[in-house]
Amino acid sequence: MTENERKNFFESLARPAIRGLEPYDASTIESPEIRLSANENNEGVPRAALEAMRAALKEGNRYPDSRNGALREKLAARFAVRAEQIITSNGLDGFFTMLGRAFLDPGDEVICSECTFGVYADTARIAGATVKKVALNESWEQEPASFAAAVSPASKMLFFCNPNNPTGTLAPADELRGMLRAIPQRVIVVLDEAYIDFTEEDTTASFKMLEEFPNLIICRTFSKIFALAGLRVGWAAADPGLLDCLYRVREPYCVTAAAEAGAIAAAEAPEETAAAARRCAREREKLCALFAERGLRFIPSLTNFILVFPGEKYEKLATAFAGASIAVRSLAPRGERAMRISVGTPKENRRVEEVVRNVLS
Ligand SMILES: *Cc1c(COP(=O)(O)O)cnc(C)c1O
Repeated sequence: MTENERKNFFESLARPAIRGLEPYDASTIESPEIRLSANENNEGVPRAALEAMRAALKEGNRYPDSRNGALREKLAARFAVRAEQIITSNGLDGFFTMLGRAFLDPGDEVICSECTFGVYADTARIAGATVKKVALNESWEQEPASFAAAVSPASKMLFFCNPNNPTGTLAPADELRGMLRAIPQRVIVVLDEAYIDFTEEDTTASFKMLEEFPNLIICRTFSKIFALAGLRVGWAAADPGLLDCLYRVREPYCVTAAAEAGAIAAAEAPEETAAAARRCAREREKLCALFAERGLRFIPSLTNFILVFPGEKYEKLATAFAGASIAVRSLAPRGERAMRISVGTPKENRRVEEVVRNVLS
């Protein structure tokens, strides 16, 4: 067989649902000096987490605790939720895989925003489910009422990213509550709060809704403000009965012992998270002030990234960022060319400002 024939041959063996899919593409320039394309915390791994992980490596011959009991206890205490309501995963990506395996069948409908984290639609498509996209309003915000209105008899799952990636906007808690009230309990509502720690919201608030809405799942990750993206630790809180379905399809040891140790140490320092959020907000406001001054359109964000619309200056700005070895994420929400720029360290952000000043002088 020629290379192409082999490609087609394996394509014919693949499940029909995955035949049209593309592999994940982080679409970033190779080894940039400054990486602002993945919303990581560029301040680096916290020292305490690093030390805890070093110590855990000595036990590397042993299987970890399958359900990460120690980490779940730590999270339960910090976020005022019960340990039995928590499940851990190999990053949130690994959690979405579990959701698809446990709940989605061909013919099921999955609802998500027209402009949000791409993994939701991929989760649906891999399972053979269909995706129904909900439009943003004219201010690029997700409207919870529009999500509730999109629910049909075929709907099985609904993803709401809050704050939303890549727009950085936050839906108000009372509107989310209204959405949950309007949605029948047979629809699983996945509230992705990967960036909630960057906002001024009470990070324990959403968990209080779990008793009232047993179809609600709240997702969190150690990849963003906690600075452990490379260690791959995600977690979610939901009704223990719902989690029971997920445990049936969960890879037994999907969080490594080292990753768990790092996550426990990171979770133990709430004042550090709050300080990191304040530093990020200060830097974000500086960047936004410059963008506004230079006429670079952007969506006001509550997170560690900003979506900007350079319009006819797009090519020039993209070339200038690449020339300065700064990686940003190119996107085309609603067909308009945009860049999502993560907030970096103060030094990195000054380099971003320099590029913007030069291009938009
Ligand atoms: C980064 C991100 C995640 C977290 O992914 P991990 O697999 O935990 O690294 C989840 N949801 C959104 C919206 C994100 O941007």
